[in-house]
Amino acid sequence: MNTASYDVIIIGAGAAGLMCALTAGYRGRSVLVIDHANKPGKKILMSGGGRCNFTNLNSTPANFLSDNPHYCISALKRYTPQHFLDLVERHGIEHEEKAAGQLFCKDSSKEILDMLLTECEWAGAEVRLKTSVKTISGVDHGYQLQTSSGTLTCESLVIACGGLSIPTMGATGFGYDIAKQFGLAVLPTRAGLVPFTLHPELKEQLAPLSGVSCPVDVHCNNEHFREPMLVTHRGLSGPSMLQISSFWHPGDSLSVNMLPATNVEQDLHDLRNSKPQSTVAQYLAQHLPKRFAQALNDVHGWAGPLQGYKNSDIEQVARALDQWTIKPAGTEGYRSALFRTH
Ligand SMILES: Cc1cc2nc3c(=O)[nH]c(=O)nc-3n(C[C@H](O)[C@H](O)[C@H](O)COP(=O)(O)OP(=O)(O)OC[C@H]3O[C@@H](n4cnc5c(N)ncnc54)[C@H](O)[C@@H]3O)c2cc1C
Repeated sequence: MNTASYDVIIIGAGAAGLMCALTAGYRGRSVLVIDHANKPGKKILMSGGGRCNFTNLNSTPANFLSDNPHYCISALKRYTPQHFLDLVERHGIEHEEKAAGQLFCKDSSKEILDMLLTECEWAGAEVRLKTSVKTISGVDHGYQLQTSSGTLTCESLVIACGGLSIPTMGATGFGYDIAKQFGLAVLPTRAGLVPFTLHPELKEQLAPLSGVSCPVDVHCNNEHFREPMLVTHRGLSGPSMLQISSFWHPGDSLSVNMLPATNVEQDLHDLRNSKPQSTVAQYLAQHLPKRFAQALNDVHGWAGPLQGYKNSDIEQVARALDQWTIKPAGTEGYRSALFRTH
């Protein structure tokens, strides 16, 4: 086979690779994107529950986790959420704001993928699928790649083959291997935005609550997220748990405030005075889904009417609800992580 030459070759036809391809194409460079998968942008299709949360208008550098927090500042200054929104609107894609600043497609993530592929086509960037890379070597003024579709050379080689999350979608550690080959430092990776698994006893106690969600405030390593927590048949998920997972390390405990909008201690004192026969379970049922209230009560073994509770007992109950300490067994790992962090 002959050697084909391009100004830019990009490995990976995901969100990053396609965005890079259209940008380089519009700069007048000849561009080839190669991907070993049979379809481009598979992760875009599954993003945002199938409706792609394509940007966040309130995104700032503080939202990015990095050993070098300055890294994203210039990138975000040069390409803002509004730039991407303008692109989406030029393509007539209908969108809606769910939580503050979070923009989702009204219809389907496929519209975002189609938009990127259309832009690549307009920019003259070629996307070649089912192509695997065997070797990469540095040559004069660029790189040479041995691939399943022949020898390719380029001046600039972009590695956009994604992180390790969801291997069933084609994720590999290929990018890290290439970095190592070219002597670049690679930090240890771990799954981020990932559900927690629980030790058997708590898992069993919470099992009947699978599918139940409630708003909590979860704390770990000086970070906290006040968002819903979802109990699953494997452990804990939902926005609060996914977010805090990026700050959690094996062995750490989570502190979960189950009633963040409530002064539990004051409420229980008041209730003991006004309705001494009330139980903690009844109090919980006023604030949480009924099944959740009962299970939480059972986990802690609270029994009997409040009139039998001393002030110190009430204080203990309040602390257990304000700072429920949960030590996860681990996380679900890359199998279901939304991202990887360093
Ligand atoms: C369930 C889920 C929901 C998500 N929802 C959102 C959301 O709503 N909003 C959001 O912003 N983000 C979301 N994300 C994260 C987002 O999808 C990813 O951050 C983003 O798609 C990563 O893009 P990427 O181009 O870096 O990598 P990828 O999309 O992983 O693309 C990498 C490409 O490289 C290819 N590749 C890998 N190895 C090789 C190799 N050796 N040779 C050739 N090709 C290779 C892969 O086949 C793939 O096509 C979600 C992720 C998941 C898993």
